[in-house]
Amino acid sequence: MSMSIRPAWIEQPQSTTELTVAQRNGIVISTLKEGNNDVVLSRYGDDQWDLSPFFKTVNSTNSQKMIQWRRVPSHFTEPLKAITYRYWLTGLPGVKRPVASTVTRFHHAAVQFMTWLTNHHIHRLVDVTPMRCMTYVDACRRQAHTSSALKNRLSAIEILYVLGEASVDRIQNAPWPDSSAATLAGRTTGKTTQSKTDIIPDELMVTLFKASEKLLLNADTLLDARDGIAQQRLGEVPLKEMQMQANRYLASLGLPPLAQTNQLLNHLRSACYIILGMVTGCRNHEITAVELGASYQSVMDDEVYYWLRSYSWKTYEGETEWMMPEIGMKAVAVMERWSKPYRDELTDQITAYSASIAELPAESEEYLHLAKLKRDCEANAKRLFLAKTPRTGLISTLSQISWNKRLKLFCAYYGVDWNLTTHQLRRTFAVFVAHHVMGDVRYLRHHYKHWSMDMTLLYAKNEKQEEALYDEVMATVRDQKIGVIEHWLDDDALITGGAAPGVKSFRKKHRLKMIPSREELVESISTTVNIRATGHGWCLADGKGCGGQGLYEKTRCVDCSESLIDERHLPVWQGIYEQQLELLEVKDIGPGGLHRAKRDVLKAASVLQGLGVKIEEGIDDDQT
Ligand code: SF4
Repeated sequence: MSMSIRPAWIEQPQSTTELTVAQRNGIVISTLKEGNNDVVLSRYGDDQWDLSPFFKTVNSTNSQKMIQWRRVPSHFTEPLKAITYRYWLTGLPGVKRPVASTVTRFHHAAVQFMTWLTNHHIHRLVDVTPMRCMTYVDACRRQAHTSSALKNRLSAIEILYVLGEASVDRIQNAPWPDSSAATLAGRTTGKTTQSKTDIIPDELMVTLFKASEKLLLNADTLLDARDGIAQQRLGEVPLKEMQMQANRYLASLGLPPLAQTNQLLNHLRSACYIILGMVTGCRNHEITAVELGASYQSVMDDEVYYWLRSYSWKTYEGETEWMMPEIGMKAVAVMERWSKPYRDELTDQITAYSASIAELPAESEEYLHLAKLKRDCEANAKRLFLAKTPRTGLISTLSQISWNKRLKLFCAYYGVDWNLTTHQLRRTFAVFVAHHVMGDVRYLRHHYKHWSMDMTLLYAKNEKQEEALYDEVMATVRDQKIGVIEHWLDDDALITGGAAPGVKSFRKKHRLKMIPSREELVESISTTVNIRATGHGWCLADGKGCGGQGLYEKTRCVDCSESLIDERHLPVWQGIYEQQLELLEVKDIGPGGLHRAKRDVLKAASVLQGLGVKIEEGIDDDQT
């Protein structure tokens, strides 16, 4: 059995207005292929349109794949059905046909609008005026939606208007004649759209990574214990006894009781997810779609590269590959073992469903039900990031909503005070890679090492890679550079280092706060200035500079004409200052060591003073 590859609507009428009720209600919306049969899943007249055969991403919930007509105020059901059908069939004029998730999103937003209309005693689309629509915009704005959510809500009204001819009852006038949903939602200001997704702070990212890595390294112990319990067939004895026996067995292995060990096994799946998200930049649906045999390695120019293979549907690429460090291979290997019992169970279920389906009349309710279950089992049988719903016993991939819950549980368990979501891993990945590309290799140095290469060369290593990720990294590098320069040009920003006087006179000369096109100026500077992060400052050297010596001998940068140090480096210089003061107390470092320590104390002190810190301690000259 496979999903229907030819949408059911292909031979269906384009318009429903000319049809009788019976003809209209009989239109096939979705089908499922079971053996040689095309089984109808839903028809126009049904209370529910099942669009699951058209969903390619694997992280949607079942309810997200359905359109429920009972939720629509009854007086709007017919017009909304007609317009939704037209939208699904043709899309908007001049625009690509929408994918199923876009249609269900439109439907959801349209129902919200229609419910609001109903609450305001409007029961026909023909009575919707531009004034009403603007009142709705205000109401939505008061609910503090994000701009993308607001745009989605308002776009639904535009669709209702543009495709209105599909329905007898329709909106007569453009909802906002001189504007658009995007403009009203603040999405077309012409400025760079900064991502709203939070970036995981450095120190929490390191904590999360370390906790995940530790679990990964302990994976075999946990999985051996799980398999040991399964082999003892403890599941066949009464529950209480099973728990006692399992606890004794786990204690003999040095593991906590069953409930806690099971919790650790669930965290192990999250740990593998976090590692893959952090080191590949994959989106949630891409990690969720990872299958057996998804990782491999290749050798190019004597360098080993590790790859993750999965599916990406964000920009409709389909099969896509991501570069990753070796630990990604370990995460995939662990998940292959982790998911094996579930995959075995799915294979058994497929056999059982096939046998039952063969006995049933085609298109009976039970037949349809089992055919859908079998289809879902087949889709998941090779996947790794699986879960079993305790209530139903169904095994499937986790939805994005579930992943976000599990990531929060993971953070809570490991004491990470952060509202972690799946989106943040990709965004944080881009920021970390951008830091790396800009030369800051302090964190997870080994894991991002390949990214120090020219990105076009890196992409050429494997053209199946996700191009959008490279674009995102490049955009992040640009944003980071702009952010750094914008800060330097701020009159109140404290800066020091050899290049600081030049920057200060530049900002004085341009009186930047007065310039209306400050943003453009900053952008144009960012394209001409080379900025490398050293961890203790910014190095503006165009060519080789000091040949990298300043990276190791930090105080060398203080007087270098290419260096710029700002407030973000303050903790580093405080550390250097204290370290050198301690060194001055050591009696056996020799006159050379002492001289150098004193010199470095003075240099660190000058940086701290440049950053507004008052230095009170003097240095005893006798110490030289
Ligand atoms: S010493 Fe100068 S050239 Fe060398 S890293 Fe430091 S700022 Fe760059």
